Amino acid sequence: MIHSAPPDPVSNCPRTVDVLLPVALDKAYSYAVPEGMALDAGDVVRVPLGKRETVGVVWTAHAEAGEGAGGLKRVIGRIDVPPYSERMRAFIDWIAWYTLAPRGLAMRLALRVPEGGGEDNARLLEPPRIGVRRAGDSPARMTPARARVLAAAMNGHVFLKRDLAREAGVSTTVIDGLIDEGTLETVPLPPMPVVLPPDPDFARAKLSDVQRAAAEALRAAVREAAFSVTLVEGVTGSGKTEVYFEAVAEALRAGRQALILMPEIALTSQFLARFEARFGAKPAEWHSGVTGRKRARIHAGTADGTVRVVAGARSALFMPFRDLALIVVDEEHEGAYKQDDGVIYHARDMAVVRGRFEQASVVLASATPSIESKVNADRGRYRHLLLPERFGGRTLPEIRAVDLRRHPAERGRWISPPLVAAVNETLEAGEQALLFLNRRGYAPLTLCRHCGHRFQCPNCSAWLVDHRFRRALVCHHCGHVERRPDVCPACGEADTLAACGPGVERLAEEVAEVFPDRRAIVLSSDSPGGAERIRAELQAVADGEVDIVIGTQLVAKGHNFPGLTLVGVIDADVGLANGDPRASERTFQLMQQVTGRAGRGDRPGRALIQTMQPDHPVLRAILSGDVARFYAEEIAVREEAGLPPFGRLAGIIVSGPDRAEAENYARALARMAQAPAHVVVLGPAEAPLAMIRGRYRFRLLVRTARTVDLQAYLRDWLERAPRHPAKLRVAVDVDPYSF
Ligand code: ADP
Ligand code: ZN
Repeated sequence: MIHSAPPDPVSNCPRTVDVLLPVALDKAYSYAVPEGMALDAGDVVRVPLGKRETVGVVWTAHAEAGEGAGGLKRVIGRIDVPPYSERMRAFIDWIAWYTLAPRGLAMRLALRVPEGGGEDNARLLEPPRIGVRRAGDSPARMTPARARVLAAAMNGHVFLKRDLAREAGVSTTVIDGLIDEGTLETVPLPPMPVVLPPDPDFARAKLSDVQRAAAEALRAAVREAAFSVTLVEGVTGSGKTEVYFEAVAEALRAGRQALILMPEIALTSQFLARFEARFGAKPAEWHSGVTGRKRARIHAGTADGTVRVVAGARSALFMPFRDLALIVVDEEHEGAYKQDDGVIYHARDMAVVRGRFEQASVVLASATPSIESKVNADRGRYRHLLLPERFGGRTLPEIRAVDLRRHPAERGRWISPPLVAAVNETLEAGEQALLFLNRRGYAPLTLCRHCGHRFQCPNCSAWLVDHRFRRALVCHHCGHVERRPDVCPACGEADTLAACGPGVERLAEEVAEVFPDRRAIVLSSDSPGGAERIRAELQAVADGEVDIVIGTQLVAKGHNFPGLTLVGVIDADVGLANGDPRASERTFQLMQQVTGRAGRGDRPGRALIQTMQPDHPVLRAILSGDVARFYAEEIAVREEAGLPPFGRLAGIIVSGPDRAEAENYARALARMAQAPAHVVVLGPAEAPLAMIRGRYRFRLLVRTARTVDLQAYLRDWLERAPRHPAKLRVAVDVDPYSF
């Protein structure tokens, strides 16, 4: 349509766009589009916001300028990054709807340009690659340097300017001169590939019969090119990775893309090496440690399709894939998939949703599926594949309990005599042992033996954890650090401070005393040296350079240590102590995972679990290996109580620096709640951690039947609620991880 310019201010901006800004707002703001600027829905733009500039995404574009368009501010410019596809925008709208997070924040999860504006972004973009080649005519003036360039360019090849200069031993100004005179011509070059393309047939695995059947089912799902979800439930070491690699291969053969989500991507060098061995090239890695230009390149590569496989942390869910065929969620039961601030979402669940928007096939893999996925599979909502045995005739470890009431460790020690004996046997056989204790630092609590003073975090309702390696007392919730004093700050007595309970550092001290001359290593997410060092240390364990590994849950997940045949769990009761209904599930998963590290190589493994309550249902399930029974009982408990996935649950957390203010507002909210049929509102009560970072927290829990529109209910309630005082925050957590 051609507009004849009407004589009013609108003539310069014939169209308007609604732009979603990366801020805590649902609303998209209208801007005018300057003449000559072509914009479409999904484009990333720079716009004025008050006195600043910001970036935003065009959510809707209007062909006609509406009422009042003349007063609108104008879009400053379009930023040359991949636009948000319609599917992506629908996905973001859906997340905002489901989590009740402001749409602007949901959009920001996918934003890959600095919010400040265009300049920074320009630095991230790849400069275009330009080649040069001989064009024909000889230069008017010949010099020795020019002659060398022409000799080097003789065979008609295309060179990068820099390479040609180096080849001829001249500076690039010589080449520029020849380009100006037309002796050399420039040629645009395609961008460098970000990563080499994986080859689906590089090194095909020889699968067992069970594996082959499962792989074929996954390949068929990929070939359907339609939305489906498959739960791959296979015991540790059954070859789940091997099997889902075949689904990745199928996506590659179809010329399409695959995303593999992992809970701890920064640490999975073993995974990357395995992928490379299978496909001849690494996947593109995506996590918070990938920064700058590399980040921009991978992002652009997923949009133009040159990046074929991404392995990433939960944020990879928001990458602009051009043609996504497959999403794998590895270790789908992991709590690390839950993002718990900003937009509060569960990456496994959002992966399923993204899969639906992309019409992709989704694979959830785990040895210990979440209750939610298990129920979905049982009820036929998900397809279900089972790998009940370890690959290659290897057996699952034999698991026994050490009843600490009968076999206590010596005073001030944590490794019981039966476990000491088992470690010795293992080491004498030239094998490795893992001692698992899910507590970072030296001791979880420090107290004064004289006056009883306990060291608490000033900002959180938590004890300070003694970290001897760092010579500090540290809060694991807010990061508060203080020096461990020599004198009790409460009573002034010297040398009365005592460490209570074990952490991995303290366990390492004990290991050094009990197993002298053995090579021991502590592996914990806060080990000095960061991710690189941890990767190296995991590799050292895999290579057999370590005798005893002392580790937190970091070592429980997915690693393959072929020489490891003994796992000792120092304290199985830690996780069962709190009242959270998910505690059983979580402890079961952790125990299965960590004991599953044993015996993955040629020799069989075993596990010893130290506990005060060997008759606890979770421990009975682990010890008997009766996994089916554990799930059946846990599912029955959830069903009975109307807990997820049989009912729906949301938390509303009110937090603020003033305890009374936060509590009062939470009470006011509770009074506003109208509880229709099938809705129960509980609380407010102090949140599981009553104070974090100096903010007091109160939680309301909303439980509804599955048939209730939980989001509509919450929205209506929160809209009727009184405005909260400025210092308070109200966060909604749909499907909270802890109940
Ligand atoms: P899971 O992910 O179920 O724990 P993995 O895929 O890591 O299992 O496999 C466990 C071990 O067995 C790995 O070392 C893997 O290389 C090996 N493995 C599994 N399947 C095969 C196969 N078909 N051929 C060769 N090795 C295999
Ligand atoms: Zn703290």
